[in-house]
Amino acid sequence: MKITDIFKKNQKTFSFEFFPPKDLHSAVRFGVNAGQLMKLDPSFVSVTYGAGGSSRDNSFEMVDLFHNDMKFNCMAHYTCVNATHEKIAYDMRTLQDMGIDNVMLLRGDSPEKNKSCPPNPDGINYASDLIRLVKQNYDFCIGAGAYPEKHFEAPSMEEDLINLRIKADAGADFFVTQMFFDNKYYWDFLNKARQKGIKARIIPGIIPINSYKQIKKFSEISGAKIPESIHKKMEPKKDNPSEIYKIGLDLAIEQCSDLLENGAPGLHFYTLNRSRAAVDLYEHLAKDWDVLKEKYKQSCTPHVPF
Ligand code: FAD
Repeated sequence: MKITDIFKKNQKTFSFEFFPPKDLHSAVRFGVNAGQLMKLDPSFVSVTYGAGGSSRDNSFEMVDLFHNDMKFNCMAHYTCVNATHEKIAYDMRTLQDMGIDNVMLLRGDSPEKNKSCPPNPDGINYASDLIRLVKQNYDFCIGAGAYPEKHFEAPSMEEDLINLRIKADAGADFFVTQMFFDNKYYWDFLNKARQKGIKARIIPGIIPINSYKQIKKFSEISGAKIPESIHKKMEPKKDNPSEIYKIGLDLAIEQCSDLLENGAPGLHFYTLNRSRAAVDLYEHLAKDWDVLKEKYKQSCTPHVPF
């Protein structure tokens, strides 16, 4: 099912992102984690492509497993770094043949750390080039990335927003954001995107904090700032995993409740292939959700037009 068909019902979406497991051990853990999600009946799940050194085949295999064996509505991520027209056509046909309706189209990053992306052999240098190409030739619902704290390469938020508009005009049907820990970045970004005439849904990407060390690393990589209040809560407990888990879960519940109550169109959870936090978080939110669901079914738009 196309994700835009869920939007047409004016429903919020709840989705979970995975990456392809690297070895047998992580494959088993992945299976257990993915299985736990089945009872939650998410709007869709997604599988990353190429990130962290995973191969195209691993990614597509996971997409196939999710979509055709586990019967999730699955969105395949895809990046254009180094991809030729021929490869893109082949890969899009493969996804089409698998029955996939949704793709998340991204530029990707340079295989060499801290280097800018090499020029693409066929001139497909930005996500917008890929989105345009796929929109013109295939019938996918297309998601794209958005950066509430600005993409790290963009010289300014203004230029990043202009480029976001180019992605929307090229055919992106919706956006999912990079993780962020302070909702003010999301609301500011949303307002600015609306001012630029971008009407598509912008779904917040959420990462429940499982490990203080790991989250500091992600924050460095992604540019998502960790507010001082979170450091203050976590620093004294950093060597106590169960305390960190509890603090992380409480923070995520607070963050997600605020987003939903104020009109965010759904939540996309970065699970890092560890579904426990995402499942616990989702179940917590769902306690209030029957009421919220009814409320938002009527109108998903307390103050956000989407
Ligand atoms: P783009 O939209 O192309 O933007 C990249 C940079 O170029 C930005 O600074 C932008 O402002 C600038 N730019 C864009 N268009 C133009 C233009 N026409 N002229 C000049 N400058 C321009 N990576 C993976 O490898 N695999 C994944 O599966 C994956 N999944 C992701 C999922 C989400 C939701 C997000 C937010 C990111 C994901 N990423 C993934 C990371 C992503 O590939 C990187 O953040 C990458 O650096 C940028 O990708 P993009 O699609 O946003 O690029």
